[in-house]
Amino acid sequence: MSTDSTKLAFNDGWQYAPAPESTDHIQIDDHYGLFINGEFVAPEIDRYFESINPATEKPLSNIALASEKDVDRAVKAARKAYTGVWSKMSGADRGKYLFRIARIMQERAREFATIESLDGGKPIRESRDIDIPLAAAHFFYYAGWADKLEYAFPARTPVSLGVVGQIIPWNFPLLMAAWKIAPALACGNTVVLKPAETTSLTAMKLAEVFRDAGLPPGVVNIVTGAGPTGAAIVNHLDVNKVAFTGSTEVGKIIQRSLAGTDKKYTLELGGKAANIIFADAAIDEAVEGIVNGIFFNQGHVCCAGSRLLVQESVADEVVRKLRDRMETLIIGDPLDKNTDIGAINSAGQLETIESYLSIGQAEGAEMYQSDCSVPDQGYWCRPTIFTGVSQSNRIVQEEIFGPVLAIQTFRTLEEGLTKANNTPYGLSGGVWTDKGSKVFKMTQKIRAGVIWANTFNKFDPTSPFGGYKESGVGREGGMHGLGAYLKLEA
Ligand code: ADP
Repeated sequence: MSTDSTKLAFNDGWQYAPAPESTDHIQIDDHYGLFINGEFVAPEIDRYFESINPATEKPLSNIALASEKDVDRAVKAARKAYTGVWSKMSGADRGKYLFRIARIMQERAREFATIESLDGGKPIRESRDIDIPLAAAHFFYYAGWADKLEYAFPARTPVSLGVVGQIIPWNFPLLMAAWKIAPALACGNTVVLKPAETTSLTAMKLAEVFRDAGLPPGVVNIVTGAGPTGAAIVNHLDVNKVAFTGSTEVGKIIQRSLAGTDKKYTLELGGKAANIIFADAAIDEAVEGIVNGIFFNQGHVCCAGSRLLVQESVADEVVRKLRDRMETLIIGDPLDKNTDIGAINSAGQLETIESYLSIGQAEGAEMYQSDCSVPDQGYWCRPTIFTGVSQSNRIVQEEIFGPVLAIQTFRTLEEGLTKANNTPYGLSGGVWTDKGSKVFKMTQKIRAGVIWANTFNKFDPTSPFGGYKESGVGREGGMHGLGAYLKLEA
């Protein structure tokens, strides 16, 4: 990778030396089959699609395209494992498998982090410090619950659901897989999981972990492909529950197909979170929180802080400090440990983001982008802010899923609150103030599933996550996440 990608436009006089993570220790196969009944098998029809590195546009591997028949094979394997083995196993024994999986993930953490960054474009700092440790933490956490389910629901008998179909997006590929698989298995269900079509590789590596952990065949099956493969899982008659994370648009399609069936479902969908900064906040910390909320990870986070609501008296100061900070952000090689902002996940996503940049300008907002250089090859978007926006603007109302921030001001707490709540979404939010009373007032009234106070984008397996309004249905994570994978009988 050329040193250009790590250039500091803020001060042309010097730049960090490149510090790329080595790829010598990883192995990516030329082709990956489907993981069904404990082994990698070829798809029924000999069709594969390319997975590319979004930072270089070069192919990494070829991934099997699962048909309806393949999905049926996977569901049958999951059903057999459910009735034959997993539903009969004691919680303590299920827990042992989950602990073993968590430990193998930790042992292979460096390999997982490198592949995640190669395949998805996110900075290695993020995959190394957030995605992979949190994925292992989810297996550890739910391993602990496997033999204690009856204590979570006093006076009720928790009963597993059966076969669960899980469909995940590309922004946190391994973490989303762990987030979904760990509670499902802890509760005694078996799984058919589909990763997103642009980021299947760590799911394939996770399949190796399941195999190496000796997980009984069929307990987890992984089928790869795009929307039609996901739809085949959702519509399969022998699936008892669907767990989906992705766009609100696809979430609505799934909800419509499940209406009238007895399948349970949880949907974790889009967001348009506001970071709300009061004049009494620690401004420098708040600016760092904004940067963390929307620019790190390219804004590829459903709970990203894609709106900033700043109290009028400090608006100029916040925007000035934010612009200064934007100039220091390093965009480029995701494998470089200095990189703050990696590659946009796909050409299609970059096109979507760019169309919103045009929409914002056409709506009359003022756009400012940092001046940093971006590599010639690959998909990149400079950190971008819009000022002079109004509440009805599409860049305020719609999810962009890129490093693009819409900035508005407010005078009173009530005005800030009204503006924060005035979008179709309600996934997350952030409040920055020196006053505990304001934190409580705001957090009680913001209609969002997760609200951070004087911080942003902090996750923990013990904490429930999910949305209000068009951001979703149900909660995942923590004890609440168990309920999504169980029937509670009297
Ligand atoms: P994004 O816009 O973030 O890519 P999507 O909602 O399109 O989110 O995709 C999230 C996941 O849903 C991916 O794994 C994708 O393949 C899958 N998917 C897309 N369309 C459908 C569908 N109609 N039914 C089920 N899954 C789908």
